[in-house]
Amino acid sequence: MATPTKAATAQTNGRTGTKKNSGNTTGKIEPGEFHEFFIDELKDIYWAEKHLVKALPKMKKAATSPELATAFEKHTQETQTHIDTLEQVFQLLDEKPAAKKCDAMAGLLEEANGIIEDTDAGTMIRDAGLILAAQKVEHYEIATYGTLKVFAENMDRSDVADLLGQTLENEKATDVALTEIAVSAVNAEAAAE
Ligand code: FE
Ligand code: FE
Repeated sequence: MATPTKAATAQTNGRTGTKKNSGNTTGKIEPGEFHEFFIDELKDIYWAEKHLVKALPKMKKAATSPELATAFEKHTQETQTHIDTLEQVFQLLDEKPAAKKCDAMAGLLEEANGIIEDTDAGTMIRDAGLILAAQKVEHYEIATYGTLKVFAENMDRSDVADLLGQTLENEKATDVALTEIAVSAVNAEAAAE
């Protein structure tokens, strides 16, 4: 995340309304301050999705098994939907969609590239590595959308929370689908190579 802050920690215990070390006497996050933080994090995941949608076709091309290639193709389309959904969220919040570099996604995609470079085309070891890289991405997205959904609920924006929840469920389903491909088609063959 571009700006890890205390608010992210507060989310883990289900509260976002307080900030221990804030300078103000009430110990509360100012409404504007939290809104700004939320928008910043939306810009971060917007950048992440926009870069992922370009990386997934490369991962599809690199995949050995048709099952994995199909999964990457499907998730490319779904990722485009995630981008559209975030644009809807920005609109609901009267904000212009803007992307802010997400260092975490940049690193995860660099790692995926490294796996492609370090493995031979046409091997199941390549696929096992691609699934590992893709699942790291999905888990990052699950963590992000899970947190942002709770933030939206805390801000009494159920409209925004619902949209973020839809993407969250799709990321979870993608993670499960990748596990199924690994278990049913890839891992045993990779181990035998
Ligand atoms: Fe996504
Ligand atoms: Fe995803």
